Amino acid sequence: MGGTIRFGKRFLARRRKRQPGRSRSPAKSQPCGQRQFGLDERGKGRLNCNMKNDLPKCIYCCDSKGAFGTKEHFFPESLGGGEWSVLPDGCMCDKCQNYFGSKVEQPVLSDWPFCFVRLIMAIPTKTKKAPKMNTNLGSIAAFRLPGYFQSSFDVRVNPPLEIPASPRDRRLVCRALVKMAIGPLVSSDSVDIFAERFKAARQFTRYGDAKIKWWYLEQVNLKAMMEALKLGADARKETVKLETVYLDGIPAFFHLKYFFLKIVTPIEPHFEMPLPRELPEGTHIYHV
Ligand SMILES: [Zn+2]
Repeated sequence: MGGTIRFGKRFLARRRKRQPGRSRSPAKSQPCGQRQFGLDERGKGRLNCNMKNDLPKCIYCCDSKGAFGTKEHFFPESLGGGEWSVLPDGCMCDKCQNYFGSKVEQPVLSDWPFCFVRLIMAIPTKTKKAPKMNTNLGSIAAFRLPGYFQSSFDVRVNPPLEIPASPRDRRLVCRALVKMAIGPLVSSDSVDIFAERFKAARQFTRYGDAKIKWWYLEQVNLKAMMEALKLGADARKETVKLETVYLDGIPAFFHLKYFFLKIVTPIEPHFEMPLPRELPEGTHIYHV
């Protein structure tokens, strides 16, 4: 597998078998978004809304009363979310959109791991500027856009470049991930997004409810990362994938492949994480 990992289906299937009384259907995974950088996505399919009534109702706060005037990407534009990640009208209220934009996504996108991946892959910001990152040697920025990075510094500099490789606010990173996980469920025929089972996810991502504990796994393909860092990389040739992993027909895990990064988080907090010995080397477990 050349340094890559697949902590999606294999361990999830094994997890499932350990739970008595469940049917033996394998874990199913459903892609909920994918893009390749540099492609024009206009005109490509958007999510359909399968909500049972016509009223606007926010999938994050469950309110129907507020304004619903803005367009929201469940996968942030600054990470590469295109038309494919736009929520159907009436699914997210303006209040939640403002909240997530300023209080969750803005800090998370400048935090590990997203700031680093965006820098290396030169993913432009929403306003098409080069991504930047703070290091011990000052701010470094990707300098050639779109989607191409060439090392703009000598990696042997003295003092050596140090890049912080853990999140400042892991709980906030996790909340941003759970927000990404909920969005695509709107379009699933088999899922009632307002069901009680998603209440914890909503409370956690929207309000950061301190009583709710969550986790996520992060795996960086170091070889691919170092290659990109030293030799440059063309983000247009790389794929970003978002998947929902279903267990017995229930959306259980959100799986994000973002260039040389893989992340898994549960959609309900009671889904267990794999044991550390079941995980490939280099996988970080964050309890939040
Ligand atoms: Zn709302």
